Amino acid sequence: MKFKERLAGYRQSMEHKHGWGVELDCPACGYRGVPVYRGWSPGYAMGFGNKPTIYAILECPRCARDLEPEASSRLVELFSDVSIPRANRRLLACFFLVSALLVVAAILIFALTRSILGIMPLLFLAPMLALIPVFNRRVAAIRQSCECGSPYYIFMGMLGRAYCFRCSNCGRLLKLRD
Ligand SMILES: [Zn+2]
Ligand SMILES: [Zn+2]
Repeated sequence: MKFKERLAGYRQSMEHKHGWGVELDCPACGYRGVPVYRGWSPGYAMGFGNKPTIYAILECPRCARDLEPEASSRLVELFSDVSIPRANRRLLACFFLVSALLVVAAILIFALTRSILGIMPLLFLAPMLALIPVFNRRVAAIRQSCECGSPYYIFMGMLGRAYCFRCSNCGRLLKLRD
């Protein structure tokens, strides 16, 4: 496979289908229902802890009020108690273990040689960076299955650094970290 095709394939597997699909209450007019989805805007906020980030542009179908604050608190409500799937946790642990081993190996080489080989730690960064897409792709692969048999995950936003998805076929919630 050519590099370009691979890159396109990687991007596709990482792509999120933005959306919402869950009921919200409008504080202005009292409407309760699924808001109007008006596309999404990129956000570059780096979330910490349980801080929600909503990318979807959501509007009240009755009075057109922006429902971003309501969506934020709803996201926290829905996903706070959802745990990261075991397959995802294993991947994270594996990635950290490999990183730690590389760092230890680099330090050892530096300590033992105390020479030009001290540049070795930098060389260890490259394989680690090369592993990130592989790792992210394997995390993304978790989204390709659901208990209902026909997974269709909608990306609802982020809780801290976790990606929050909902299968629009069965309503299953999925939280992933990469
Ligand atoms: Zn309203
Ligand atoms: Zn499902």
